[in-house]
Amino acid sequence: MQFDDKNTPRPPSKPEARPPRNARVSLIIFIALLAASVGLFMFDGGKSAPSIPYSTFLTHLEEGNVDSVRIVDQRLIEGTLRGKDGASQDFSSVIPYVDAGLLEELKARGVRVEGASAQMGPLSVLAELFPWFFGFFLIWMVFRQSQGNNKAFSFGKSRAKRYQESDRKITFADVAGQKEAKYELLEVVDYLKNPQKFVKMGARIPKGVLLVGMPGTGKTLLAKAVAGEADVPFFHMSGSDFVEMFVGVGASRVRDLFDQGRKSAPCILFIDELDAVGRTRGAGYGGGHDEREQTLNQMLVEMDGFDTKDGVIILAATNRPDVLDPALLRPGRFDRQVVVAMPDIQEREDILKIHMAKVPMAEGVDAQRLSRATPGMSGADLANMVNEATLFAVRRGRSVVEMQDFEEARDKIMMGIARTSMVISEEEKKATAYHEAGHALLHYYLPNADPLHKVTIVPRGRALGVAFSLPAQDAYSRARGWIRDRIVISYGGYAAETIVYGETTTGTAQDLKQATDLARKMACEWGMSEELGAVAYGQEEEPIFIGKEIAQHKDYSEDTAMRIDRAVLGILEEARKKAFDILTEHRDQLLSLAEELIRKETLLDDDIKAMFGFKSPEASEA
Ligand code: ADP
Ligand code: MG
Ligand code: ZN
Repeated sequence: MQFDDKNTPRPPSKPEARPPRNARVSLIIFIALLAASVGLFMFDGGKSAPSIPYSTFLTHLEEGNVDSVRIVDQRLIEGTLRGKDGASQDFSSVIPYVDAGLLEELKARGVRVEGASAQMGPLSVLAELFPWFFGFFLIWMVFRQSQGNNKAFSFGKSRAKRYQESDRKITFADVAGQKEAKYELLEVVDYLKNPQKFVKMGARIPKGVLLVGMPGTGKTLLAKAVAGEADVPFFHMSGSDFVEMFVGVGASRVRDLFDQGRKSAPCILFIDELDAVGRTRGAGYGGGHDEREQTLNQMLVEMDGFDTKDGVIILAATNRPDVLDPALLRPGRFDRQVVVAMPDIQEREDILKIHMAKVPMAEGVDAQRLSRATPGMSGADLANMVNEATLFAVRRGRSVVEMQDFEEARDKIMMGIARTSMVISEEEKKATAYHEAGHALLHYYLPNADPLHKVTIVPRGRALGVAFSLPAQDAYSRARGWIRDRIVISYGGYAAETIVYGETTTGTAQDLKQATDLARKMACEWGMSEELGAVAYGQEEEPIFIGKEIAQHKDYSEDTAMRIDRAVLGILEEARKKAFDILTEHRDQLLSLAEELIRKETLLDDDIKAMFGFKSPEASEA
């Protein structure tokens, strides 16, 4: 800290504008620091002597007015001047350059010279340190803010939320529909209730169960219901909680979570949004061991080190199973997947009823009608709709929720959905029904096709509907007839739309691509085309690394290329014609199947067989 220049006050160090979050604490600290600095400044000022230019000092020296000089450092001197009337006056002066001859000069003129080592009093030490303190303080503030509320000091802890026994227990009764998921999870519940029974029998219980489904379908709810049913502690953490700015923090949180689990066994550890930590490793560029990878590795290690006998079951949820690291899905980890599907028309009604039971309803609120009017809505959307309707009712000063409130809530939520993902209009729903009915019906008229499992117009992912077939057995190789029928089925949607509307929608794009891929493989890889013969054309190299060129190198001539195109087209045309022929012939069945789909949204194989009197084609297995 300089003792010069007291005439120009040093600018007080101002704090940067700070978010109001920590305003009170910061303000107090800031005022304290400001007071300290002002105090020090005044202390400096009181101590220092008036500064004079060095030239003036030299003049005084020549005139013999200088009584004594204290050399503070190479650039600063202080001293006393002898006035003409015998009075003495203190001064200080900054030396503009290092004046090596000064000392000689002073000696020559008989001036008393002192050193000034004792200048650092306790207060000046403080003053020296003050800017450092202030700097550290600022850094700390920034740090705190970037970490949210004081998280910086609790890195390693898992912060898992534990649902206490006092919380109202959620059970399977609170989850509408999801029959298949509940059925699978019931085993977990049984085990948690009585682990010894299973251990004694030597049964292998899944360590990890992965709930897979679109957002809002009730994955979190199901996980809580498992805990509620089994009556065990439930530790809830989100994948994104593991990912922090410091390397190693996520890993230590994982360790902590599993430790907690071991201590409270039997219990459930639930990791929501697993994809936040569980993404495939090394997929990014420069792939080192980043924080997320370390966290994932730690999770794999913990899961391996776990014994199911410990009585801890790990549940996880994701809506992106496709991006998960394959290591997570290996046996001994999340080796069981439970699909949590979007609700169909009946399930939507049940969900509505569950949530309607919690608020006072007016007579004549028709859950069934509402369910029909809300295609494409998830369980969360429906719960939200009931809540919005209640809010509308409250705002209108009513004591019960009426149908009108629901209509408005529905419109509001539909608009919200339209902005974020997809809203399905009546028209689209109808078109989807005809499309899927086309796929479905063909299953019953093609001798080599797998039996139909179910057909649904409940959207999943980007698909508006699906017709699932159920392979009679696992097949690693398929006969030509099966592939041809598969291609015909792919054309089912296209043909049905054309037959009913005279034109097709963009919904056929995926089907056409699938058909074309199969036909091309038949011709080029599997030697299933009569014209081309049993030759493999265009060996495709599997893309092993991301970034490696995905190229199919041509090992055939232009002429062959044309023949391949012709052969592929031939296969496709034949299949397309077959699809049209079958569906035109059974147009009435196509129409009634579609209408039934619009009513029920999901139809099983048995439902369709009952409708049209189809028999099981047991004898027709090739
Ligand atoms: P996810 O975890 O799949 O995104 P949540 O479990 O968080 O979905 O569901 C959000 C809310 O939606 C639940 O708290 C519940 O109120 C409601 N909900 C979703 N599915 C159902 C269902 N099948 N039955 C009853 N309520 C449901
Ligand atoms: Mg969730
Ligand atoms: Zn289709």
